[in-house]
Amino acid sequence: TTATPDPAGASPVMAQFFEAKARQPDALVFFRMGDFYELFFEDAQKAAAALGITLTSRGQHGGAPIPMAGVPVHAAEAYLAKLVRAGFKVALCEQMEDPAEAKKRGSKSVVRRDLVRVVTPGTLTEDGLLDARGANRLAAVSVRAGAAAVASVELSTGEVECMAVTLAGLASTLAALGPSEILIPDRLFSDEAVNAALKAAGGFVQPLPQALAEPSASETRLKRLYGVETLDGFGQLSGAEVSALGLIAAHLETTQAGKVPALSAPRRAGEADVMVIDPATRASLEIEKATSGAREGSLLAAIDRTVTAPGARLLAARLARPLLDPAAIDARLDAVAWFCEHRPQRQRLREALQRTPDMARALSRLALGRGGPRDLGALRDGLAAGEAVTGLFAATKDPLVDLPAEVAEAVAALDVSRRPELAAFRDLLAAGLGADLPALARDGGFVAEGVRPELDQARALRDDSRRVIAQLEARLAEESGVALKVRHNAVLGYFVECTAKAAEPLMAPPLNATFIHRQTLANQVRFTTVELAELDARIAQAAERALAIEVETFEAWREAARAVAAPIQAAAEAAARLDVASGLAEWAEDAGATRPVVDRSTAFEAEAARHPVVEAAVRRAGEAFTPNDCRLDGQGVVAARLSIVTGPNMAGKSTFLRQNALLAVLAQAGCFVPARRLRIGVVDRLFSRVGAGDDLARGRSTFMLEMVETAAILTQATPRSLVILDEIGRGTATYDGLAIAWACVEHLHETSRCRALFATHYHELAVLEDRLPYVSNLSLKAKEWNGELIFLHEAGPGPADRSYGVQVAKLAGVPPAVVARAKQVLERLEREAGAPAHLEDLPLFAAVAEPEAKYGPSPVEEALRALDPDGMSPREAMDALYRLKGLL
Ligand code: ADP
Repeated sequence: TTATPDPAGASPVMAQFFEAKARQPDALVFFRMGDFYELFFEDAQKAAAALGITLTSRGQHGGAPIPMAGVPVHAAEAYLAKLVRAGFKVALCEQMEDPAEAKKRGSKSVVRRDLVRVVTPGTLTEDGLLDARGANRLAAVSVRAGAAAVASVELSTGEVECMAVTLAGLASTLAALGPSEILIPDRLFSDEAVNAALKAAGGFVQPLPQALAEPSASETRLKRLYGVETLDGFGQLSGAEVSALGLIAAHLETTQAGKVPALSAPRRAGEADVMVIDPATRASLEIEKATSGAREGSLLAAIDRTVTAPGARLLAARLARPLLDPAAIDARLDAVAWFCEHRPQRQRLREALQRTPDMARALSRLALGRGGPRDLGALRDGLAAGEAVTGLFAATKDPLVDLPAEVAEAVAALDVSRRPELAAFRDLLAAGLGADLPALARDGGFVAEGVRPELDQARALRDDSRRVIAQLEARLAEESGVALKVRHNAVLGYFVECTAKAAEPLMAPPLNATFIHRQTLANQVRFTTVELAELDARIAQAAERALAIEVETFEAWREAARAVAAPIQAAAEAAARLDVASGLAEWAEDAGATRPVVDRSTAFEAEAARHPVVEAAVRRAGEAFTPNDCRLDGQGVVAARLSIVTGPNMAGKSTFLRQNALLAVLAQAGCFVPARRLRIGVVDRLFSRVGAGDDLARGRSTFMLEMVETAAILTQATPRSLVILDEIGRGTATYDGLAIAWACVEHLHETSRCRALFATHYHELAVLEDRLPYVSNLSLKAKEWNGELIFLHEAGPGPADRSYGVQVAKLAGVPPAVVARAKQVLERLEREAGAPAHLEDLPLFAAVAEPEAKYGPSPVEEALRALDPDGMSPREAMDALYRLKGLL
């Protein structure tokens, strides 16, 4: 039996623990005891299980042992990381004074302790706990008067964002942010729509009391967080936005124990500014992460040539949220294009950037009181690298080349000479910080000489005394005639040491008048002398004084850094932008990518395009990737808006589908695209649904899931959307599946009118090409050669001529007898069933659909309806035809 955690009758130390625990009841309390963090009671049991450390006990409470587990302070970071990843919150309860000070107050008094921080997944700032190239966002969701808002902060860099969203768009917005922790008012927790969105987006959900989300409380907290009198400077924030930002402010207040981070003003993005990509689409296209969950194998990993961690984070953020405004997209593309054309500048820039430390994260740690001299060093080196970059552009400035705005602005933000306060800060660090920087200010030694005269004096005294000690050692040895040494340790300070044998004369008169015995070890005897003790005290004092001055100086510099937080953040972001643009140019050159044309049409014309991830894999296997064209704008020879893609298994259908979706993502994120040419009208929403056959691992009935997602596509796709459907209907019986696939194609064609690629193994769908004007058949070609199947991976017009399933079975090593028999059965079935003539008799979808379909009749349809073919001359018919064509 173990003790129950009842605060009554607790020892003074345990009383402190109970107090801390009561303030953070749902966190594991890491209770500082000297060199260890100790956990007690249930916390100890949970931590022992999660960390695989020993569960023991310490002392007694109410007559029974207290369960205890401990981790050494110096190794705590790794344990913290593990617990936070496992979904725990950890409250750090630190010793707030030196144990010696507590002793001075009386032998019974205990060291003061206090909660200094609650560690949660969304509030990490330590390099050791973070992925340098990945974001770590804390998000908050709030709903007021039917309007939702999402706010987010990257505490490690201080970037804050907020946006008004619709409830329907919540899941995509959250998925685009990929937060590691999501705050919501507890009342929303029971809201089904919100819950579904949270689930789809993933991340650790943290319900907070509803009261924290009330607008007036939120407003007060926000003003406090930003140190402003009014929020007017942030633009017209909606009630829901204020409330979501307020939740973040409240969470930061508790978790950071009152320390105020250096935050940027909330940047406002609208749902209408970015391409909507729902979580299922994001996952199936493997944009930021491969299906395995790793970065490796994703689109992001394939195109990432950034050389700094902030650059990598910015690229990921851009890819997660492609833009809708062609002008904004073009501004990004201009920058990439410039770096493609200016190779020498690009190479030199990348070399300079490589030396740029992560300034944003260093600054944030300093603001939160967790930083050290090394973080100041990062700011110093970052600003210096920024200057090198500015110099690069100044030196190579050719009056004929005008820098694109995106590049020019970034170069300006890095130009320290334009900002006197930043230049002053740089000078302060350049002159003041030494070369060898410790991680912690209390390790000392980082303030350069000549900065603080008192410090130089204290150090001189300390160093001088050390020289005096060296002289004293020589003198004592000479005078006594004993081979002795002066040594130092933490317990005794400076002492004289010699072997036990040599010590004998020192302990006898007359030398014992000088040498005072301190300690006898197995082979050594230790002494001190009056002179040595005095020197020891002087050195200790000087060192203490020097350290106090250094710590004080550090605090002053920390304040100075806070004061220039905004321009430093701007410079850090500018460096990241240059890294992204030059990195994309680098990739474009490696991958033979070209600049896409993005406009407000509904065009989709891809020529000789490739899938960047599959291409790399195919190349690694020593083969060549076959580029393919795709045209989906109802123009051209095939005049398709929706292509039904058929072909045997392994022919490259999924690759073709995904490649076209990825082209849209890349183009609108402002990247070059792996194609000879791409013109695309802005895609407002991208949907990708992969048939149930491909993700059987999911728990829920896969067919149900497939239909839920299909339903979402059919209701949400607009004429500007791009839809990729792969093997829809596969998860059910053949006729069911065919019927559903058929109806989906009709709906996409008639009602959604979006651009779509529809891969299917139902060859029966091929007849839709003749029945629906904007549907065409495409197939990935394969040919039989010597009884083997050769995949050409070439997309061409027309349906696949026959099913190659039997040949694939043969390739896969199904025994020849079985393959032969399957061929017989197939022939028989095909003869008896014939073409799906019965489907030809189906009325057109338009006749069964609601008369007022989502977008009403199109101008073409209206014009068509008005025509009277019987009353027209051939000439008039010809004119009418041209008029109709003109309406497209
Ligand atoms: P399907 O969806 O038709 O079964 P996939 O798209 O999964 O086929 O492609 C199967 C494999 O064929 C891929 O893993 C890749 O190795 C290869 N492949 C696909 N498309 C191409 C292409 N365009 N060029 C070269 N190889 C390709």
